[in-house]
Amino acid sequence: MSAQARLLLTPRLCDRCGKCLSVCPLNALRVGRAYIMVDWVRCDGCNQCVAVCEAGAIKSLGAASQTPRARSAAGLSAGTGGGKAVASAKSTKPVKRKREHERFEWSLLEAAATLSVTFSAFMAKEALIASAAMQAMPTEVLVPVRIAVLTVYYALQIALLWWLVRRRGGSFAESFGLGRLNTPLAEKLRSIGLVIAGLLGTRVIATVYGLVTRELGLTPQAGTDTVTRVFGTAPGGLLLAVVMLVFIGPFVEELVFRGALLRGLEARLGMWPAIVIQAVLFAAFHRSWWLLLPMTVLGIALGWLAHERRSLWPAIVLHGLYNALSVAAVVWVVMAG
Ligand code: SF4
Ligand code: SF4
Repeated sequence: MSAQARLLLTPRLCDRCGKCLSVCPLNALRVGRAYIMVDWVRCDGCNQCVAVCEAGAIKSLGAASQTPRARSAAGLSAGTGGGKAVASAKSTKPVKRKREHERFEWSLLEAAATLSVTFSAFMAKEALIASAAMQAMPTEVLVPVRIAVLTVYYALQIALLWWLVRRRGGSFAESFGLGRLNTPLAEKLRSIGLVIAGLLGTRVIATVYGLVTRELGLTPQAGTDTVTRVFGTAPGGLLLAVVMLVFIGPFVEELVFRGALLRGLEARLGMWPAIVIQAVLFAAFHRSWWLLLPMTVLGIALGWLAHERRSLWPAIVLHGLYNALSVAAVVWVVMAG
């Protein structure tokens, strides 16, 4: 019997208590406003989710489906089949704490508020950086001023996210899946493999797209313009570009787009519509028609990675590496004169 045949899912009965997410040993479950999703490839039909679902939204289709591993992991005796038994507090507590972020569900309103603040702050930051007053500053003053502007820009977004999480009593790190670093080695290797595949895939697509548009005369500006316009070509400015574009920027953008926005949309619309919408918004955030396609592709890759790994770390690393290659190309061009 396949794992799929063992569970009966009734989303309308689900009160989204999160207990099934806490006990699933294989990370095979997703619960949203109107859906319960089981990754049937991962699920081994252990029935631990059935055992804790008091609302009856997940039921077992047969006592025979319980695996020996499930019986021992859920603390069920050999004679308690069918899904009536309740897992012991001892067996569920540590796992529940580890997966706290699974139960913090972002609302669409919170996601929209976060996005509005990010877009507004971005426009204000761009206007300041492009202002005549800043352009006229000598380099030794300009770099610290840029650092101050960017620090305020990122701090504002983190402060909002922090406030949104804390007002509902959540933990910031765990609400974004940032606390999950002690995963098994096989899971870490899978994340690393997906990050490398994602980096290669998105970079190949961006490179081919760049070559084709250049061939067609559609490239709007030289490759170095965006970075050097904001950070300049002095060594201090380029160092600032590395810090901001490779480390801080990807971290904050992942919190906003793959953290709050993706999760808020996903709870309402399901996985793929949410991934595509946040990717298009992410691309629009870069304010370039020419970049719309490669940034949407990157946004989809990052969204899928965050969804698949249930942690933001792989997406943050992929985003940082993607930007690192862009910054490295700019530094190379500047140094080559
Ligand atoms: S345990 Fe049942 S009610 Fe609670 S989130 Fe899971 S499916 Fe929904
Ligand atoms: S049956 Fe077991 S592995 Fe499958 S979703 Fe439920 S808890 Fe997870």
